Amino acid sequence: TESGLLGAADIRRLAAAADVSPTKKLGQNFVTDPGTVRRIVREARVGAGSRVVEVGPGLGSLTLGLLETGARVSAVEIDPRLATQLPNTIQSYMPQALDRFDVRTRDALTLSRETAPDLAQAPELTLVSNLPYNVATPIILTLLERFDNLTGFLVMVQKEVADRLTAQPGSKTYGAPSVKLAWYGQARPAGRIGRAVFWPAPNVDSALVSFNRTEGRERGPEHAPDERARVFSLIDAAFAQRRKTLRAALSGRVDPSAFNAAGIDPKRRGETLLVDEFARLAAADPRDGE
Ligand code: SAM
Repeated sequence: TESGLLGAADIRRLAAAADVSPTKKLGQNFVTDPGTVRRIVREARVGAGSRVVEVGPGLGSLTLGLLETGARVSAVEIDPRLATQLPNTIQSYMPQALDRFDVRTRDALTLSRETAPDLAQAPELTLVSNLPYNVATPIILTLLERFDNLTGFLVMVQKEVADRLTAQPGSKTYGAPSVKLAWYGQARPAGRIGRAVFWPAPNVDSALVSFNRTEGRERGPEHAPDERARVFSLIDAAFAQRRKTLRAALSGRVDPSAFNAAGIDPKRRGETLLVDEFARLAAADPRDGE
C-alpha cells in the first residue's frame, strides 16, 4: 500500500504465501488497517532507541509499524510458518529495517532469562503486541514476572480482558488479574478497536491497554520475588471465593491476628482490596517469612 504498511490485499497474499489459514486456537486475527497500526504505535510511544518485544507478530502488520519508528523489534511467534516468512516480508516492505529485527519461533509463555538472554540483558524492554486473546493475561503476567527490565507495555486484547486488567476495587470486573497487574504498576485503558480492522473479523470487540511499571520504585529495592509469591497466593485465594469474607476465604492461610495488625476488616471481601492492602496483610502474617 501507499502507506508502506500492510493492507487487506497484502495480508491475504502473505497468508496464502505462508500457507496459513488463520486458526482460532492461536488467536490468529490479523490487522489489515494501517490507520489502526499507526494508532497502536503512537499509543505505545516507542521510537529510535526503544527495544520492543512483539508477541505474535503474525504476518507483520504491527511489526512494520514498529520498525517504521526506528525501534528495534524482537518478535516471538509460535507458528513456524509465520515466523519463517517474517524476515522476507520485512525484506520486501522495509529492507532498511532488517538489521533492527529478529524473530524466534516460540510460545511466549516459555520466554525466560534462560531461553532469551538477549532480552534479559537489554536495559529496558517495552511489550507492544496484538496479543493472542486466549492467553493474553498469562503472557502479560509471566513476562512482567520474568523480565524486571520490562518497563511498560501497550497491548491490544479482547475488550472484556482490557476491562479486567484496568478495573478498580469494588467494580464487577475487578479480579485477580487486576490486582496482580497493579502490583507491578499502573494500567490504563487506551481506546477501543472495532472488529472490521481484522482479517478474519473476530467475534469480540478489542481494546488497548497501556501500562507503566512502578514496582520497586514504590516499594523499595528490597522488594523480593518471594514477597510477591506470598501476596499473589493470597490474591488467588481471596478471588477463588470472591463472595466470601476475607476471614472465610483466607482461613488457614493467614493467621487471624494479621487482619488487626494490618488494619484490615476481616469482614471485607477480597474484591474491595487494593493491592497494597493485600501486601500489608501478607506482611502482617506472623507466619510470614518462615
Ligand atoms: N500482530 C499480528 C497482527 O496484529 O496482525 C497478529 C496478531 S494475532 C491476534 C496473534 C498472533 O499470536 C498470531 O500470529 C498467533 O500465531 C500468535 N500466537 C498465538 N499464541 C502464541 C503464543 N503462545 N506465543 C507466541 N505467539 C502466539
